[in-house]
Amino acid sequence: MAIAQEFLEQLKDRNDVESVVSSYVNLKRAGRNLVGLCPFHNEKSPSMVVYNDTQSFYCFGCGAGGDVITFIKKIENLDYIEAVRLLAARAGLQMPEEGRDDRTARLKKRIYEINRETGRFYHAQLMSEQNKHALAYLTGRGLSVRTIRRFGLGYAPDSWDALTRHLRGKGYSDEELYAAAVVGRGRSGSVYDQFRGRVMFPIIDLRGNVIAFGGRVMQGSGPKYLNSPDTPVFKKSRNLFALNFAKQSAEPYLILAEGYMDVIALHQAGFTTAVATLGTALTSEQARLVSGYVSKVMIAYDSDEAGQKATRRAIGIFSDTGVEVKVLKIEGAKDPDEYIKSFGATRFKLLLEGSAGAVEFELARARSKVDASTEQGKVAFLRDAAAILSEIRNPIERDVYTAKLAEELSVSKEAIALSVQNILKKKVKDLKRKQSRELRLSVSGVDKLNPERAQHMRAAASEEKLIALLFKNPDYLDGLLEKMKPDDFVTAFNRGLFEKVCNLIQTGATPSLSLLAGVLTDEEMARLSAMLAGSEQMTFTKQQAFDYIDVIFEEKKKLTANDIANMDDGRLQDFIEDLRRKKK
Ligand SMILES: [Zn+2]
Repeated sequence: MAIAQEFLEQLKDRNDVESVVSSYVNLKRAGRNLVGLCPFHNEKSPSMVVYNDTQSFYCFGCGAGGDVITFIKKIENLDYIEAVRLLAARAGLQMPEEGRDDRTARLKKRIYEINRETGRFYHAQLMSEQNKHALAYLTGRGLSVRTIRRFGLGYAPDSWDALTRHLRGKGYSDEELYAAAVVGRGRSGSVYDQFRGRVMFPIIDLRGNVIAFGGRVMQGSGPKYLNSPDTPVFKKSRNLFALNFAKQSAEPYLILAEGYMDVIALHQAGFTTAVATLGTALTSEQARLVSGYVSKVMIAYDSDEAGQKATRRAIGIFSDTGVEVKVLKIEGAKDPDEYIKSFGATRFKLLLEGSAGAVEFELARARSKVDASTEQGKVAFLRDAAAILSEIRNPIERDVYTAKLAEELSVSKEAIALSVQNILKKKVKDLKRKQSRELRLSVSGVDKLNPERAQHMRAAASEEKLIALLFKNPDYLDGLLEKMKPDDFVTAFNRGLFEKVCNLIQTGATPSLSLLAGVLTDEEMARLSAMLAGSEQMTFTKQQAFDYIDVIFEEKKKLTANDIANMDDGRLQDFIEDLRRKKK
């Protein structure tokens, strides 16, 4: 659905990029712009810049970028229309007459229905006479039938088409089943049940919709857990298992466990704030989700090496959210499930109450790596400890740990504080370097958006400057078009972008990212934001614009035979025409 330009202008004016982004990210002023920790990748020093001039944002760390609409799309996991709707509501604007062609919304609705029906089917299978081995498996692992019902657990029969036939019978097409990811698709195009011979864990969102499934093998082959891939209604990096139950609890904390079985065992034992990630490591989006509900998280990962590694990672991710982290030391059992079975719920409660803070966890770990009774060991430990202390945001808290450490190691407090300061200074320096570095547009060699860029760097760079220039000086357009046509652009991606910006200006609009958010993909928006960010400090004269055009023409002359062979007919004709003109 196309949204009227006039409405988009209004939407953009009423949703200032700074105010929108700052309701999700803690922004600090840096000259004319603002900087903050990027919510789209995990980082400790800020790389995301918010530009008031162009009403855009760009992350120098991961390359995410765009306008307010792109930002909301990404952070709230919405499609374009949904993001516009959210921003309209935020600004108290009435959405223009909505088109009926809302295909995504319709598909999502069908997927929710399919998921619910699939959950019912699996549950009925679990409770049926012929699958009592599956029920016995779950009760054998200590789950009561009441718990099984509460979580809506199920069983996917060991069949290639039991679910497919059931859902077809309910009127769903194979296309819809595939979009919901409850079926896979073979090479011939035929579909088959995605989950077979597994006990099933439905994943339910905060509104009570079944959005995905996790399946566990009971014995035998295949991966232990199989999870739904991302679908139009499910992003595994943005959901947590059992958060729908945990959010109802009055407790001010969540317990973060490693797997579905741990979570369910914890709930059954009365710890109804347990949640788990969905077969992946914790993401910054999930940490942010958690921070919206509680101020404290208890990490209850497995006691093995992998679990401890994941714990450290999670501490790092939570450190940017303001959520207090405690770590459960599960001793004498491999995971919370086993711990409760062996020692009982009361003892687990004690464990929760006595859990160590994140800093203590890190310090204990660093201490365990060295022999602190030797001078060498002490120095090594102090070096690690200073790095750990430098991560503490709150200066008072940092001071408390510094004092404690000084006493423990009989070192002066000032000496420790000084090494912490040095680490902090280095971090600031690193950030500055990162920001001043020339934009790395093609990060890993192949530039998927603009594959021609690598061969035509010089031309592409000039093209990008011309595009950025039009945002600042739309009045130059007529002058530019007297010297060149969009077709003169060497790289097709930039040509397309340039044309869109030209069209916008020719309709009388002032070019802005928000007017393009509906026609460009998120990646294209990010690239355009990068171009704007790259010329943020520049003021362009008309002469400069002509210089860029000259570069493009120079580079165009160098096009190889191969490039010419790959041109489509229209472009080829223009190219020949061009050569002829120049010979005259
Ligand atoms: Zn980023």
